[in-house]
Amino acid sequence: MLVQEIIRRKRDGLTLSSDELTALANGIADGSVSEGQVAAFAMAVCFRGMAIEETAALTRAMTATGRVLDWTGCDVPGPLLDKHSTGGVGDKVSLILAPALAACGAFVPMISGRGLGHTGGTLDKLEAIPGYRTAVDVETLQKVVGATGCAIVGAGDDLAPADRRLYAVRDVTATVESVPLITASILSKKQAAGLAALTLDVKTGSGAFAATRTQAYELAASLIAVAEAIALPTVALVTDMNRVLGRSAGNALETTEALRCLRGEETDARLRELVCELGAAALLAAGSVADHAVGRAHLRRALDDGTAAERFGAMVAALGGPADLLEKHAAYLPQADVRHEVAPPRAGTVTTIDVRALGLAVVELGGGRRRPGDAVDPAVGLSDVCTPGDRVSAERPLAVVHARTHADAAGAAAAVRAAFTIGDAAPVPRPVIYERLYTDPVAEPSALG
Ligand code: URA
Repeated sequence: MLVQEIIRRKRDGLTLSSDELTALANGIADGSVSEGQVAAFAMAVCFRGMAIEETAALTRAMTATGRVLDWTGCDVPGPLLDKHSTGGVGDKVSLILAPALAACGAFVPMISGRGLGHTGGTLDKLEAIPGYRTAVDVETLQKVVGATGCAIVGAGDDLAPADRRLYAVRDVTATVESVPLITASILSKKQAAGLAALTLDVKTGSGAFAATRTQAYELAASLIAVAEAIALPTVALVTDMNRVLGRSAGNALETTEALRCLRGEETDARLRELVCELGAAALLAAGSVADHAVGRAHLRRALDDGTAAERFGAMVAALGGPADLLEKHAAYLPQADVRHEVAPPRAGTVTTIDVRALGLAVVELGGGRRRPGDAVDPAVGLSDVCTPGDRVSAERPLAVVHARTHADAAGAAAAVRAAFTIGDAAPVPRPVIYERLYTDPVAEPSALG
């Protein structure tokens, strides 16, 4: 099968067959398809799109280029679940949700990623913990999941290698945004992990890649349709990203906030609500609970009674981090020397926030990457970030910048000030969740609970 013929057919808007997509995925994984051909294919899909069955065939083909985890013989007497987020600012949900689901009896091999663009990455947050290993082999992943109920790690070279190469090419050819390519990329890795069910957090708003609800809905619908075609029970929630999730953005600051939520301390109510909603959706997709309300109650209990925190501590220790992180996190997590309160331009109420600009301010501080492979500084970022409806004044700053130098802090403070709009009246509060989409047979109207 000539690769250039497959690309030509997609360029002309035809539907590719499963055999063609398998040949292409295998060639991407083994290197026989050239960089230029990968880029041309990605651009052709960007312009022409893909039918759902075609996207499902690409997903299956990409999964089959690597190892599919076999959990038989592993000590996992509960459903294998995972969550994927399309990325946001301050999104530390994974750090809380994986151990909380483990405390509810599930087993969570959470394959996570690094920061992308203005958004943070779960692996970067966990690497703020001294000793924590995110690069482990499949055997270690399965052992830790069996022993502690969860392991949050990176995708090794053996899971869906075609996606690794295709994604790297998309990243530098302006083809990341294609809905079928995003769908196949996410679901091929989840299918390779051998999951029983999946929950998806599709974010929309000024801090998300999908700025509008229409774009987010289109992505969620594609993910659900393809998950159904590959028989992976899935619930997708379209959620709000018009504010920082929680009150901090930056790796160690977010890890600290996640630990506080796990310890049942007073934290951002919307962060906790989203954790419980996504967890309930995962339990519902796996058939472990009858409706969202029961699932939410399980998650809340796991956070309140300390069992989720205990699972997190066990996971950290099993993956090389300190055994007493929960008790002594301030001693372990790095802190920046310079703290700068960002005063608002005037007293009033926060009406809107350019959340992407806040994410970029964290990147500028060194908390994210300008180029692939850059080191990130775990200590820098923003804390005490205000949210729409908050009153601000000389006494109540917009946020606190954590920086290495006073010059860095001044630059970030200017960016933060410009990102907030201050008015006099409180804005209408936005819901945490806009839509819920289900694969069949998870779907039931009563499931809203
Ligand atoms: N995350 C992925 O894993 N793949 C994409 O294409 C986009 C986000």
